[in-house]
Amino acid sequence: MRLLLVEDEKKVARFIQKGLREEGFAVDLASDGETGLAMGLDGVHDLIILDIHLPKKNGLDVLKNLRRNRVSTPVLLLTVRAAIEDKVIGLDAGADDYLTKPFAFRELLARIRALLRRQTGTETPILKVADLTLDPARRLVFRGEKKIELTTKEFALLDYFMRNPDRVLTRTMIAEHVWDYDYDSMTNVIDVYVNYLRKKIDTDPEAKLIHTVRGVGYVMKVGDS
Ligand code: CA
Repeated sequence: MRLLLVEDEKKVARFIQKGLREEGFAVDLASDGETGLAMGLDGVHDLIILDIHLPKKNGLDVLKNLRRNRVSTPVLLLTVRAAIEDKVIGLDAGADDYLTKPFAFRELLARIRALLRRQTGTETPILKVADLTLDPARRLVFRGEKKIELTTKEFALLDYFMRNPDRVLTRTMIAEHVWDYDYDSMTNVIDVYVNYLRKKIDTDPEAKLIHTVRGVGYVMKVGDS
């Protein structure tokens, strides 16, 4: 899952970005409204966290502009005032939820997860492919009875694979969803991480789930490629 954070207060931005990265999200950061709008219009993010009070262009204008351009990415607004008018204006402008500063990181995380669940429409958010299961909320992965320990990046990569079974995922698609703009496309970091993941979940060659699609990328599926 890749998020866009539009926040001009550097300390707050770094705190949120660090915390979300630790939870396995890829997080792009924009520190003013114009940059945030340009990045949001790319449409590659799963969710946008948007501060209202921003230099160059305020959050509500950014939001209206995104919606006018048919970007339907869920937006969580951050506001300092708990004024009813702010909330109403924000929701009218197309926001999906809002959070009043200061907030606890756990609350931000809970709201992000709720919005992402709503977006994917998963009632029971446990993902399953063959005997491999992943519980996004509790961050647990099992292959059969065996519990698998993954790093946050491996977990994010597996989560993306499991939300797209039987679908060929190119390196570009994987990079766009699991890595942020810091990703260097000249490196083979995706292949390296896929191999880490294989060593943990695909130890039985007869029952492997991640298959290489030569020259294209990878696909998660049951059976031979
Ligand atoms: Ca601000």
